[in-house]
Amino acid sequence: MKVSVIGSGYVGLVVGACLSDSGHSVICADVDAAKVRRLNQGEIPIWEPGLEAIVRTNLAAGRLSFTTDVPDAVRRSRVIFIAVSTPPGGGGEADLGNVLDVARVIGASMDGERIVVTKSTVPVGTSELVRTEIEGRSEWPVHICSNPEFLKEGTAVNDFVRPDRVVIGADSEVAVEALRRLYQPFIRTGAPILVMSVASAEIAKYAANAMLATRISFMNSVATLCDAVGADVAEVRAAVGTDRRIGPSFLFPGVGYGGSCFPKDVEALSRTLEEKGIDDSILRGVTQVNERQKRLPLRRLRARYGELEGRRIAVWGLSFKPETDDMREAPSLVTLRGLVEAGARTSAHDPVAMNEARRIFGERPELSFMEDQYQVLDDAEALLIHTEWLPYRSPDFRRMKELMAKPFVIDGRNLYDPGSMAKRGFDYSCVGRLRVAPEVRH
Ligand code: NAD
Repeated sequence: MKVSVIGSGYVGLVVGACLSDSGHSVICADVDAAKVRRLNQGEIPIWEPGLEAIVRTNLAAGRLSFTTDVPDAVRRSRVIFIAVSTPPGGGGEADLGNVLDVARVIGASMDGERIVVTKSTVPVGTSELVRTEIEGRSEWPVHICSNPEFLKEGTAVNDFVRPDRVVIGADSEVAVEALRRLYQPFIRTGAPILVMSVASAEIAKYAANAMLATRISFMNSVATLCDAVGADVAEVRAAVGTDRRIGPSFLFPGVGYGGSCFPKDVEALSRTLEEKGIDDSILRGVTQVNERQKRLPLRRLRARYGELEGRRIAVWGLSFKPETDDMREAPSLVTLRGLVEAGARTSAHDPVAMNEARRIFGERPELSFMEDQYQVLDDAEALLIHTEWLPYRSPDFRRMKELMAKPFVIDGRNLYDPGSMAKRGFDYSCVGRLRVAPEVRH
C-alpha cells in the first residue's frame, strides 16, 4: 500500500520505518529540512534502539523516502498518517496548530479519495476538526480515523511491531479495512485490533497515559508516607503488585515521570475535563505530586548542605528514562537548573543524552558533561541519580567511595539496597525505603 507519514519524530519515524519494513511503500514528510536531509542519508536524529538499521535497509530497498514536500507525499499515497507534535498550549491544553496545518495541506493537495489517520495524541473531537479542515478544501471523499500510538521511547520499534493492541477509531469500513491490512503483519501473535468510535479512540490514548501517570504519582505518595513512618515502599509494592486486580507495572516510586507524553497528556486531559465541566481533581493531584517529586533531589541536598554555592555535585542520568536521549520534561532538568541557580559546581553523565543536555544548557564552567560515569564523581559531595540506566545499576561501589569527597548518594530511582549501601559506608538516601540495614530490624 502507498502510505505517507507526516511528521518524522519519535512516532512518525518508527511508524514509517516499520510499515516500510513490512513491505509497504512509505513517504515520510516533515517540515524540518535539516532533519529530512539527515534521514535521507540514513542518519537518525534520535537515539532509538534498532531504528537506524530498519531505516537504512528500507531506504536502500527504495521502500522508504523522506521529503519536505508534504503536498507531494499526500498526492502519492492512499493512506496518510498525521504524526506531528501536539505540544502543550499556554493553558496546558494540547496545541493543535501542527495537526490542523497538516489537515489544511492534505485538503488542499488531495487529488483523489484518501484515508487520513490521526496518530498524534489529540483531544476528543480533534478528528472532526481535521475532517472539517480537509472537507473545506477538497471535493474528494476522505475517510478520517483515529489510530493512537502506544509505543514507548527506548523500546519503540519493538512496541510497534509487537503491540499489546491496535486501536482504530473509525466510522468508515474503508478506513478500518486499510488499517487492518497495514497492521496484519504485527498482530500475528494474537494482539487484538480494537475497532471503536473515533471519540473513544481519542479518549483511550489519554486515559491510558493518565492511568499510568496516576499509578506513579500514587506510589510516590505512598513512598512519602513510608519515608515519614520508616516503612519500606519496596515491601508495600510487592504486597500491592501481586494483587492480580492491580498487577506489578508502574508501581515504582522515584523522582517523578517526565518525557514528551505523560506530563502533557495528563495536563491536556485535565483541560478537556475542565472544559466539559467535569471534576479533574484526580489529574490535578497527579501533576501536583509529580512536580513535588521532581524537586526531591534538590530538597534532600539542601536539607543536608543548606547553601549549595560552590559545592561539587555529581549527576548520573539525564534522559527522562533509560534507552532514550529524550530530555523533554525530564526530572534531571529541574535538578540541573536548581543546581546552576544555586551556584553549585555540577558534573553530569548520561550514556546517550549528553549531546541533548549540551544543546539545552550549553557549555558553562559550573556545569560540565563528562563521558565517564566515574569521572563525574571526582571530589563530589553528593551523587544524584535520575535515570535507571543499566551502567548505574551495579557500579563499582569501592571506586565510587574512593572518588567522592563525601559518600552521599541521593538515588531517585531506588537502584540499590539500602542495607548494603549502609554496610559499604554510603550515606544513602532513596525514595520510601528504610535507611537501616535489614538485619538491624529483625
Ligand atoms: P516529535 O516532536 O519527536 O516529532 C514531531 C515531528 O513533526 C517533528 O519532526 C516536526 O518537525 C514535525 N512537524 C511539526 N509540524 C509539522 C507540519 N506542519 N508538517 C510536517 N511536519 C511537522 O514528536 P513525537 O514524540 O513523535 O510525537 C508526535 C505525536 O505522537 C504527539 O502527539 C505525541 O503526543 C504522540 N505520541 C508520542 C509518543 C512518544 O513516545 N514520543 C508516543 C505516543 C504518542
